[in-house]
Amino acid sequence: TWQLLGYDINDDWPGYSLDLFSYPAHYSGDIDCVIIPHGVIMDRTERLARNIMDDLGDHDIVVLCVLKGGYQFCADLVDRIKALSRNSDRTIPMRVHFIRLKSYLNDQSTEDLHILGAEDLSFLAGKNVLIVEAIVGTGKTMKTLLKHVEAFRPKMIKVAGLLVKRVPHNSACLPDYVGFEIPDRFVVGYALDYNEYFRDLNHICVISESGKMKYKI
Ligand code: 5GP
Repeated sequence: TWQLLGYDINDDWPGYSLDLFSYPAHYSGDIDCVIIPHGVIMDRTERLARNIMDDLGDHDIVVLCVLKGGYQFCADLVDRIKALSRNSDRTIPMRVHFIRLKSYLNDQSTEDLHILGAEDLSFLAGKNVLIVEAIVGTGKTMKTLLKHVEAFRPKMIKVAGLLVKRVPHNSACLPDYVGFEIPDRFVVGYALDYNEYFRDLNHICVISESGKMKYKI
């Protein structure tokens, strides 16, 4: 029942060879392949910004950036929305707020999701909220976060997710704006980490078995 929503990366796509791109030498051997090169991420983000502008132009929004993995996507998406606001009659006045979640240990999702520094979000009442998240796996995290945010009674909530993994989903939890659908493999780079490593990698890559061993805790 998987429904194609956007730019789809097939399960049998082997990825790009690492030799085709540059990446930091300290990760050689730790990644198998590049599945989304940095330039493609940027191009797709530009288009998502336009879709968001088409839907939400002239609305004030509060961007809720989900840390840590979402920082790069959020920064780049906000940047593109700003560029569109500079260059057209329609604009999106934005505020940016950060929320930090943690649920993963090694490459396994843990049951207990933490909203770190869970502060008072009551300023969201009556506001249009755009949640910006790097990756949606099972959707559990998004569901928990949505429930948390809804409790503060915003006027509207939209979700932008750069990556959605092709795993059995509760479709109610799919983001409104999806960058790419990817196979159910553990990916790193573009601020996505494995035990805090790989955030300093531009491309979205598949971690290798030896990489998993090397940075395991
Ligand atoms: P879910 O609750 O949807 O299963 O997991 C969502 C969270 O797990 C994301 O916010 C992200 O932090 C983490 N996550 C899921 N899959 C991956 C992955 O392939 N790579 C990384 N680095 N994090 C992931």
